[in-house]
Amino acid sequence: MKAGNPVQQGRALDTLRSALARVSVGAMITDAQLEPTGPCIVYVNPAWERLTGFSAEAVVGSTPHILYGRETSANALDDLRASLKEDGTAQSETVIYRRDGTRLNMAVSISPLCLCGDGVDHYLALQWDVTAHRETCARNRDLEALTRLQRAVIMENLNIDSLRQRVANGALEVTGAHAAVVEEAEEGEMVYRAVAGMAEGQLGLRLPIDQSASGLAYRSKEPVLVRDVDRDDRIQLKAKAREIGFLSGIMVPLAQAGRIFGVLKVYANQADHFHERDQYFLEVASGVLAANLHKAAEYASSEQRRTLLLDALPAMISYVDSDLRYQEVNAAYERFYGLGTERILGRKIEDILDPEIFSNFRPYWDAVLRGETVSYEREIVTPAGERRIFQGDYHPHQDHQGEVFGFYAIVRDVTDRHQAQTDYLTGLPNRRRLERDGFLQLTQAHRYDKDLSFMMIDLDDFKSFNDQFGHLYGDEALKAVAELLRSASRDADIPARWGGEEFALLLPETDLDGAREVAERLRARVATLDFGMGRFVTASLGVAQARAEDDLSALQDRADQALYRAKMAGRNQVAAEIKAG
Ligand code: GH3
Ligand code: MG
Ligand code: MG
Repeated sequence: MKAGNPVQQGRALDTLRSALARVSVGAMITDAQLEPTGPCIVYVNPAWERLTGFSAEAVVGSTPHILYGRETSANALDDLRASLKEDGTAQSETVIYRRDGTRLNMAVSISPLCLCGDGVDHYLALQWDVTAHRETCARNRDLEALTRLQRAVIMENLNIDSLRQRVANGALEVTGAHAAVVEEAEEGEMVYRAVAGMAEGQLGLRLPIDQSASGLAYRSKEPVLVRDVDRDDRIQLKAKAREIGFLSGIMVPLAQAGRIFGVLKVYANQADHFHERDQYFLEVASGVLAANLHKAAEYASSEQRRTLLLDALPAMISYVDSDLRYQEVNAAYERFYGLGTERILGRKIEDILDPEIFSNFRPYWDAVLRGETVSYEREIVTPAGERRIFQGDYHPHQDHQGEVFGFYAIVRDVTDRHQAQTDYLTGLPNRRRLERDGFLQLTQAHRYDKDLSFMMIDLDDFKSFNDQFGHLYGDEALKAVAELLRSASRDADIPARWGGEEFALLLPETDLDGAREVAERLRARVATLDFGMGRFVTASLGVAQARAEDDLSALQDRADQALYRAKMAGRNQVAAEIKAG
């Protein structure tokens, strides 16, 4: 057959499509047009549709541009085109956005296709999600920078000027900013006390607190993220900002004991340069700086200063050697163990920690001493007998040959953050938690083509129940319903208090009929709850099943509409969504 025969090309493309339809990695075929407006998408496989949330119909005919958004590099497509022209293949990693707007780090590997045997006529792009990997790398990077900062302060007995300088340098490096500045407030002005990167040469610069960008963070006592100076109404001195190359930036207050005395600022001469996680790093770094700067005046000795620095952080920080001996610990360890620092330093963990916790944690320590970075989140009964949730990061201390001498540990008590996801009255997951878990469940259901249903439960005439017996009895009734939801649902189901007298239940691997049955059973059991008051409560329930194009709010919305119909039809009943088509 002759080269370029469209029949041959069509057949080759069909064979390829049916092969790609079965693979689990996202695959896209485009034409070979590399000039702007191309290349044009001719096929995407089902794995790609699941990965991005876009359907094949919606994207065929467009360029890969449709995936791009705010954090995507402006040259992403041009770089790929250039690499394909030059080498014939391309590899890259890009931030893309799913149809529902969520962001993804996507790895792409592109190779040429010659479907009619006459030179390159298509490209095949394989794409997969590397977001989790990126997250871990970014977290390790932050941790490394922080431990380096800690270590530098401990080892070198820095004076205040060099500490400020180190924080500015560290902030510059970790956030990839073009400039970093430590500013302190003095007589109505913000004064540049340490400068790094593009800000070099500006030491001593003064700007009025009530007009400058840093003044915003100083006055509000909150971190400020400016994505684009030109679009940000809070920035008054726009010309001045552009002059110093400030087009986007983050400012975090330096605070100690509730008093703000300065601001740590990073900026870039390009809009949209920073992300929330940069802000998080700066907040922690500013804690290091603030603790030290504030107390420096009162405590002359560098020894005390060093201790205060570490002690002021709201985390347990230690350095442990390869024999599992504590070599450095901050004051948070005293509180954890109920022992003075002198009784912890130099001792083996094994000798002071509860044997059961010790053996549970042993694998983490073994791993970090092999040179791995370790992150965990676990519940622990503390020596004081409290059940708390800890999140820890261990980072190996090793030389260039890879020999490990010990590790740095940062361990945070995240119990309160967990509680922020639990409803205080009933102990059920709250709406926020359900939305977070629901998002994951829905993603899984879409990816593996599984059923998932959602149920809304609203107590009937509850206002009048409250009016009749008082709020305290109302609360008891809510708790009883919550307990029933918990005990009557399966382990995989996620019950939540949606708000007020409304509850929700997420049902993985359950279709609409299954959800309706569960709802009916719950309805019947609520109606038999006896509060000994001579009045029973009833509930109306609405159920809906996830569809391919759903996000959680669309699914919840249909369950809510069904619930509304159950109310309209007389309450104390179950209604299911009306099926599409
Ligand atoms: P309907 O059958 O139409 O749902 O009537 P309803 O009275 O249940 O609905 P409405 O939305 O008018 O009132 C909800 C009531 O739920 C109002 C409020 O008194 C009660 N409620 C909400 N949250 C709480 C709570 O935390 N404790 C108590 N005791 N009552 C609550
Ligand atoms: Mg209601
Ligand atoms: Mg109600």
